[in-house]
Amino acid sequence: MDAQVLVKSPAAWRVAPNLRDYEDARARFSWEAAERELAGLPGGRGLNIAHEAVDRHVLEGRGAKTALRWRGKRGERKDLTYAELSAATHRFAHALAGLGVHAGERVFSLLGRIPELYVTALGTLKHRAVYCPLFSAFGPEPIRARLQLGDARVLVTTSALYRKKVAPLRASLPGLTFVLLVDGGGESDTLDFHALLARASERYEIQTTSPEDMALLHFTSGTTGRPKGAIHVHRAVLAHHVTGALALDLHPEDIFWCTADPGWVTGTSYGIISPLTHGLSSVVDEADFDAERWYGLLAEERVTVWYTAPTAVRMLMKAGDALPRRFDLSALRFIASVGEPLNPEAVLWGQRALGLPIHDNWWQTETGGIMVSNYAAMDVKPGSMGRPLPGVEAAIVRRLPDGGVEEVSRPGVEGELALRPGWPSMFRGYLHEDERYRKCFASGWYLSGDLARRDADGYFWFVGRADDVIKSMGHLIGPFEVESVLLEHPAVAEAGVIGRPEPTIGEVVKAFVSLKDGFTPGEALRRELLAHARTRLGAVVAPKELDFLPTLPRTRSGKIMRRLLKARELGLPEGDTSTLEAPA
Ligand code: ATP
Ligand code: MG
Repeated sequence: MDAQVLVKSPAAWRVAPNLRDYEDARARFSWEAAERELAGLPGGRGLNIAHEAVDRHVLEGRGAKTALRWRGKRGERKDLTYAELSAATHRFAHALAGLGVHAGERVFSLLGRIPELYVTALGTLKHRAVYCPLFSAFGPEPIRARLQLGDARVLVTTSALYRKKVAPLRASLPGLTFVLLVDGGGESDTLDFHALLARASERYEIQTTSPEDMALLHFTSGTTGRPKGAIHVHRAVLAHHVTGALALDLHPEDIFWCTADPGWVTGTSYGIISPLTHGLSSVVDEADFDAERWYGLLAEERVTVWYTAPTAVRMLMKAGDALPRRFDLSALRFIASVGEPLNPEAVLWGQRALGLPIHDNWWQTETGGIMVSNYAAMDVKPGSMGRPLPGVEAAIVRRLPDGGVEEVSRPGVEGELALRPGWPSMFRGYLHEDERYRKCFASGWYLSGDLARRDADGYFWFVGRADDVIKSMGHLIGPFEVESVLLEHPAVAEAGVIGRPEPTIGEVVKAFVSLKDGFTPGEALRRELLAHARTRLGAVVAPKELDFLPTLPRTRSGKIMRRLLKARELGLPEGDTSTLEAPA
């Protein structure tokens, strides 16, 4: 699948990219030099994410600039300037101090995409407490598990969410001292968020913050099993800032929209922190996905840089090519995607339907920020995740019987994607799970659990999660390649591919497919899809079996859960389904 098509980077730029020559940028890069772009706390008192994201701009005279452009579900609008965000977060930090919450204690949010979420996140960081976001769509059990594992001291939520999901289990959470309701609510044993803020002072001095102080706790998506709580520190802001500049090409004059829910790491690293450190204006949309609304938002807000995810792109593709033509998307200059492999078809669709290719990038909750990326000034090989960020050393490694690993230097050979520890946003542990953390490292590498290969030009290609790779007739088959080929067919909206154990050949490649509107499942279509895959992939790699499903099981962050397809196929227990989107 490598390099069948090359999407050349434009010859002329509307805005000169921050990274113009990859090799040169890589050779010159150092984290020490990059750190000079950050201000640090006044008086040399350390490094604090919230200071870099908010207060610095106010101190440097940019307080009147819009930080957040909020669009409510019901058509409401609210803009918050950097000065307003600074004042509100000062108040929240002050309120935490008043409650007796200490540095290092955990403050959780269980909120939709509303301004209070941003105030909570940044105010918590100012107070040097630890911020942990939860998906507002989680059910009571996943919420309880995370509040407990994360030793929650404070929870900020709404009265409706509290009543439905938290109140019934409050008794089992003795450590949860304060619940703050953003809509007052009058529930017993809770506090009124806005009343607290109103009473708190607008003046707050961030105390000395060590760059290694714990700042964020992010639970992983739970795609492969029980979610882990990844610990990040204040120094991570350096990676948020640098990756925003190099991988997302953020400039201060941009209007940026990150569509990820703040309930997972992308929504924090790139929905809150990175754009603010660049002093730009971010769009925040409270509503759920709707193709027409999204195009409308891109057009009305004149979004210039857009960061989204493969699921969303596939849903837009499903809505058709004619729809975007009804909107003025002329302000848009850069589109990026993360979260799952981005099928080549989706990259090319962007080029065709939106006039811009979609730039895939790869990272994980554990890495805290983008690690491998397609850059604005680099040719895109559709289907490739791109090249490692300057300052990040990535390699393909092979596990050895003695527990170590060795680097695989020959291009094209599959192995585990590994990173050399040392970038600022690397996780510093899994909370209360030291053994699980230690297992992520061998021979001086961080092992990502994803399989990939590197081509002769240094581009990385995702093969599949180590857990999802299929072993059939002595071959290793990555589900992504098979899914991408199925997606080329005009009838296919989504595809998930698994290995079904079979004694003689190891595993049979089996595909699950959901169809675009206007197509109906049937024997003829099944045969057509299998034949298409066989022609494109050859008999060994192509699926032998194919089932139609109305939708595929996905995590709340939009990832196809292949392990669930497999468990259901085999009639096995489904394991941890706390992050499953909705019963599918
Ligand atoms: P868990 O670790 O709990 O199973 P998860 O790995 O899905 O969940 P995240 O940290 O949210 O949790 O997701 C990171 C993973 O998502 C990566 O390890 C990779 O498998 C996948 N991923 C992210 N971006 C890409 C991409 N651009 N291409 C391919 N896969 C990607
Ligand atoms: Mg993971």
